Amino acid sequence: MTGRLFELFNEKGVLFLDDVILLKLGELVLKGLNRRNFEDRLLRNIRRRLEPYGTFRVSAMQSTVYVEPLSEASDLSGAYEALKTVFGIAGMTLARSCAKTVSAMTETAKTYLNDILTQAKSFKAESRRADKSFPLTSIQLSQQVGGALHDAFPHLAVDVHRPEVTVYLEVRETAAFVHTDPEPGAGGLPAGINGRAVTLLSGGIDSPVSSYMIAKRGIELIPVHFFSYPYTSLEAKEKVLSLARILTRYCGRMTVSIVPFTRIQEEIRKNCPEEYFTLIMRRFMMRIAQNIAEQTSAKALVTGESLGQVASQTMEALRVTEDACEYPVLRPLIGMDKEEIVAIARKIGTFSTSILPYEDCCTVFTPRHPKTKPRLPDVRKAEAALDTGLLIQEALAATERMELKL
Ligand code: ATP
Ligand code: MG
Repeated sequence: MTGRLFELFNEKGVLFLDDVILLKLGELVLKGLNRRNFEDRLLRNIRRRLEPYGTFRVSAMQSTVYVEPLSEASDLSGAYEALKTVFGIAGMTLARSCAKTVSAMTETAKTYLNDILTQAKSFKAESRRADKSFPLTSIQLSQQVGGALHDAFPHLAVDVHRPEVTVYLEVRETAAFVHTDPEPGAGGLPAGINGRAVTLLSGGIDSPVSSYMIAKRGIELIPVHFFSYPYTSLEAKEKVLSLARILTRYCGRMTVSIVPFTRIQEEIRKNCPEEYFTLIMRRFMMRIAQNIAEQTSAKALVTGESLGQVASQTMEALRVTEDACEYPVLRPLIGMDKEEIVAIARKIGTFSTSILPYEDCCTVFTPRHPKTKPRLPDVRKAEAALDTGLLIQEALAATERMELKL
């Protein structure tokens, strides 16, 4: 990697590739053991994410990833926006490259950061020297470029403790890079690095957030939606697919399973006591989701449950739901308030779709007096009126699979 970047700069005879994106790696840096693996996966995810924006060279060096446009036609700002959704990136910034001299760095800072420095009240220069053969120390470099910038922008105060703008001067093997403070990236771990999980995706606010949170830990998602046509409309299904499509910004390609749930719900309504409707329905969801997990080598199920939010999310109810499956059930929202969940939904862009007014299959069959402290033996007994295995096989056989791309 290092070699290629170096050659590329040399091929051109000079060191200028102008504007680049610098990405700072996140936890990868800490995870010594699997670092190589993480880095490879991240670079692959970044390359895939950049495809619509033109041709770029993507290379990693010393926990920084360099994204360099290889043609005038490459859309650098589009690429930058797109990279904000790539997990595994802790910080990011646009930067301009230049020759490794004080005068080149000064000139580049003056022109490239002109608007920012004109508007700011205070600044400092900060240098990093990866190229140890560079003749000045970091402090000397900061002083010389900082001094020249102070002359060029006399209204700026130098504030080394709390500057409004920090001008970073990075001297690398290949070139120098000038930029200001990096902004936070998506964080987390590269998608797919930690295996797969089946996520139960309704059209609500919560499950897109729980899906996002698990994906952020490097997990590839297999979304499953239970669809109760005609009790819920085709628009309700489209809404779920729209939510899944928003998640592809973070997760990449996903295959959504749409499981027909009408017959199961009707059978429950016909044969089971009303107070257990929701719980039995949720037990079916867990069993079917586990089946899909087995088929897809997923290792866990994900739900958007939050403790105490509704009758089916008390500790007793969770015990009853969990009893229906053996796989670990990951509930990243379990301790969160609704406002906290909504804040994340807004941040990741799912909120406005989630609040579209299409009914969910749970709301259509909601009992008037659900049991909040159900006992497992009672629920099992109520459920025994159904041919569970057959109903599940029928639902799985009629499951529709839809591949979603970004
Ligand atoms: P959400 O906002 O995600 O709909 P909720 O607060 O409405 O959640 P419930 O309706 O009790 O809660 O559902 C709890 C969890 O069960 C959901 O977060 C989701 O993971 C899963 N779930 C509920 N309905 C469906 C469905 N139709 N298809 C897939 N998963 C579902
Ligand atoms: Mg819901």
